[in-house]
Amino acid sequence: MVVAHDVQKYYGSYHALKGISMEVASGEVMCIVGPSGSGKSTFLRCINQLERTDGGAIWLGGELCGYRRKGNELRELSDSEIARQRLASGMVFQRFNLFGHMTALQNIMEGPVVVQQRKRAEVRDEAEALLERVGLAGKSGAYPGELSGGQQQRVAIARALAMRPKLMLFDEPTSALDPELVGEVLGVMKDLALSGMTMIVVTHELGFAREVSDRVVFMDQGQVLECGTPAEVLTHPQHARTKEFIAAIL
Ligand code: ATP
Ligand code: MG
Repeated sequence: MVVAHDVQKYYGSYHALKGISMEVASGEVMCIVGPSGSGKSTFLRCINQLERTDGGAIWLGGELCGYRRKGNELRELSDSEIARQRLASGMVFQRFNLFGHMTALQNIMEGPVVVQQRKRAEVRDEAEALLERVGLAGKSGAYPGELSGGQQQRVAIARALAMRPKLMLFDEPTSALDPELVGEVLGVMKDLALSGMTMIVVTHELGFAREVSDRVVFMDQGQVLECGTPAEVLTHPQHARTKEFIAAIL
């Protein structure tokens, strides 16, 4: 589903991603862990094309992201082609950034109706079903300000799912939440994983990574230091940096 090969990213002269390679198969859940500044968000943003890569390549569902091959040359895609490609992945951020002036239901319906121009009635039924799926059946008329952080984040997940993405990206979705609200969001993510969704999850929740992910990647200073099963990376890490990181979190 996702293939990244030698992905490079610079911010000015700062080398943020130094050749990231990984593969995520359809239906797989991959967790990315690593210290602050290691490039985890940057990598997700490259997959979602919020950032342009400066080298290497990312394929999503077999399609090269951001570029078209012309003979031996790579040409940048147009903005509209990139916008189309971006619909393949849904992203959930640390901050829920829902539209504050719209109800939960309107937040979920906005993308499918405005961007995908799907029929409002059909989208409404689907949005109601999505709210139920994230445990918020009674909250369709609530505004974000009337919802807890955990509820807002679950609306944000439903909103991303409403676009019918092939892949879901999560960037520390629970780290801005009060501790007692973390579980309800992780529960929704676990259900999503069990339903067969392909997911890449940046998280410090090692319990979730152990239980739900098929593979774990440890990133440090713009590189992948370790990649393997949760047992390999989290229980029996090889690198001193991984051991230090895990010890510091537990
Ligand atoms: P955290 O755990 O704190 O979220 P991260 O692993 O997600 O960290 P990134 O946000 O990807 O790390 O940042 C990687 C590096 O790139 C950091 O050193 C950061 O300061 C730098 N960086 C990120 N975004 C930008 C930007 N827009 N301009 C310049 N430098 C940036
Ligand atoms: Mg980050």
